[in-house]
Amino acid sequence: MKDISKVLTDWYTHNKRDLPWRETKNAYNIWVSEIILQQTRVNQGLSYYYRFIEKFPDIFALASSDIDEILKIWQGLGYYSRARNMHITAKDLVENYNGIFPEEYSELIQLKGVGDYTASAIASISFNKKTPVLDGNVFRVLARLFGISESTQTKTGKDIFKNNAKELMGNTNPGILNQAIMEFGSLQCTPLNPDCSSCPLISVCFAYKHDLISSLPAKKQKIKQTIRYFNYLYIIYGNETFIEKRTKNDIWKLLYQIPLIETGELLSLTDLIKNKKIEEMFSNLTPTIEPDYIDIKHILSHQKIYSRFYRIRIDNLSNTILNEYIKVPVEKLSEYSIPVLLRKYFNLLDK
Ligand code: SF4
Repeated sequence: MKDISKVLTDWYTHNKRDLPWRETKNAYNIWVSEIILQQTRVNQGLSYYYRFIEKFPDIFALASSDIDEILKIWQGLGYYSRARNMHITAKDLVENYNGIFPEEYSELIQLKGVGDYTASAIASISFNKKTPVLDGNVFRVLARLFGISESTQTKTGKDIFKNNAKELMGNTNPGILNQAIMEFGSLQCTPLNPDCSSCPLISVCFAYKHDLISSLPAKKQKIKQTIRYFNYLYIIYGNETFIEKRTKNDIWKLLYQIPLIETGELLSLTDLIKNKKIEEMFSNLTPTIEPDYIDIKHILSHQKIYSRFYRIRIDNLSNTILNEYIKVPVEKLSEYSIPVLLRKYFNLLDK
């Protein structure tokens, strides 16, 4: 019987990509990289990682920073709650742990925004604890190698995968093995067309032997998407425009945006003029609404957003606009952290 964990760690030694977070066991760097990699591919995540570490080189720098600075670096990665949680955790660690990450999984998992995956990664990579990391790559490798057909979405399924991964650890360095399985899933045992012909585990692979590669791991149930309709108003007042901060518990919390009217469907120009909020904003004004609006469809993991952007010119200000929005020079807009959807719009305008 092959020593699977040794094969995997040997394979890792020879095939791993050189990545900056692999050159350190520093829990701060591991934490930053793991949170970034939860929502992006390695190639895209790399530049975010470098910029993040350059701006906030350690937990103290992150804790003492302003959330707007963090969101600015995070801009484009999505899942902004993760950035907000990192700020909360950084402050918590500085205030209550002298800026030092705890070593045990049970303590790490108590930190805001640190789930099973991140706690396991930090505990194993930084502190050599036997805590298996389960991500999509690991699920796939284990499901195929051992023929596990349980869903990864149930608690029972996850426990089965976790126990298998734990058994694999034996006396192997847990941090290295965790990274080896993830990398093996990324490069060798890929979702489509895994490179079985050069796989060092082909002789023990259940899925290969039973011709089950395309059906393992079990397919995930599709997430239901909510459909939303956003009507944005890009108000031009001389060289200035108006923005607001999103403060509600919704997507893009704490990011900035131009005035937004969410409706049950996109508003035509006729409907826009009749809209109550518009009436309130532009009462006593004579706005010029440019008839050529821009439509952009934006897809998030749980939401599909149909957006329409109107450009409106005004010569005077109403109380509503003055009191409810922040006036900013148009050329300073880029200094604010805004959702990717808005960035797409401004990029289109620049063309
Ligand atoms: S033989 Fe193929 S399916 Fe099995 S572990 Fe190797 S690459 Fe993955």
